[in-house]
Amino acid sequence: MEILVIGSGVGGLAVARTLLAAGHRVRVFEQAPERRTGGKALLVWSNGNAVLDDLGVSLDGVGARIDRIDAMTSGGRLRTGMDIGHAARRFGFPTTAVPRRHLLERLADGLPGDLVQHGMTCDGFTQDRDRVTVTFTDGSTATGDLLVGADGHHSAVRRRLWGEGTVRPATYGTWQGLSPIGIEITDTGRHLMITGREGACGLMPAGDGLLQWWFDVRWSPADPRSAAPLEELRRRFGRWASPVPEVLEAATEDDLEFFGHHWNRVRRVWGEGRVTLVGDAAHTMPPTLGQGANQTLEDAWVLGRELARGGDPAARLRAYEQARYPHISLVSRLARRNPANWRIPPFLGRLIPDTSQTGMLARFSNRLTAPA
Ligand SMILES: Cc1cc2nc3c(=O)[nH]c(=O)nc-3n(C[C@H](O)[C@H](O)[C@H](O)COP(=O)(O)OP(=O)(O)OC[C@H]3O[C@@H](n4cnc5c(N)ncnc54)[C@H](O)[C@@H]3O)c2cc1C
Repeated sequence: MEILVIGSGVGGLAVARTLLAAGHRVRVFEQAPERRTGGKALLVWSNGNAVLDDLGVSLDGVGARIDRIDAMTSGGRLRTGMDIGHAARRFGFPTTAVPRRHLLERLADGLPGDLVQHGMTCDGFTQDRDRVTVTFTDGSTATGDLLVGADGHHSAVRRRLWGEGTVRPATYGTWQGLSPIGIEITDTGRHLMITGREGACGLMPAGDGLLQWWFDVRWSPADPRSAAPLEELRRRFGRWASPVPEVLEAATEDDLEFFGHHWNRVRRVWGEGRVTLVGDAAHTMPPTLGQGANQTLEDAWVLGRELARGGDPAARLRAYEQARYPHISLVSRLARRNPANWRIPPFLGRLIPDTSQTGMLARFSNRLTAPA
């Protein structure tokens, strides 16, 4: 088939890899003028790494392997610990923290040079029983057998399918940075999640001496934007236990980036006819479980599997959405409850088995639970 993909982020590239390997003709249209090279680090869990492996993509040599996540109080006491290495041993795939540009480079490696057409902004589509036609803001069009909207949080394809206003602000926002901050965990496989009354702080090694750090604070789109956010973060979090003050001391305003969390209710059926969605276009959620990109990779994997079964393409797209629904709706509902900001008392935290994340990952994943 001739398949049109809108967006060349994690979802668009993963879908293109899967469908090209299955022998389809694929064209990807991306609004940005060139490949994205920025972005902070992402956590690719065992489920994401399993899909990458199936796509022939390896993260060897980039990022940092994460074997432990410790949730701490702002005073430096352990709330609860997670043995992430246990999931790696159980599933055969590690968890890796990786700068987004490396993930995109690895996903694009080996793909045809003319696959992605940059500077093409989709503003709608029409379809009949047999074909889909996409329209672009420059007045041009493209026609194919199927359309996959992998155009992220502000998806034009989703807006055309569902209408406006379906993605809503959630209750927190994140200030984050990725910078060479030499605290003890930067060169380890240990990720810290620290929570207190003032908000939450995450610290995660990302390879090459880089530390991904972020601060979650309550947020509404109506809030005025701070003129000196780093000073504000230092005032708010500077008295927390080490290593938070050291991170805030080493950070610079130039490192800082803000994003408000958003969420949409996941639909049981998210496409229509010969059109479907993958990734944030279908399920925007707060990054509190670090599963967004992983769930996007899961989408690409299931979409490839369903189309490989042959038959009526529209029916295969609905089968894909149906297979994803139980997993992605669970992840989305949990992410909305903002577990990164829970303040589990240490005496209760000690009761949680440190291997519990392994079972959660299985529930989050089509790939890890698929029959061999
Ligand atoms: C700060 C932050 C931290 C995160 N941390 C993690 C993490 O640790 N682990 C994790 O798994 N996930 C994380 N996520 C989520 C993850 O980044 C997303 O879930 C993932 O990038 C979704 O991929 P996507 O391909 O659906 O969308 P995107 O990566 O947003 O790609 C969409 C692409 O479509 C293009 N596009 C948009 N509109 C159009 C249009 N009209 N026409 C043509 N092209 C268009 C865009 O330019 C973009 O290239 C985080 C997200 C944020 C914001």
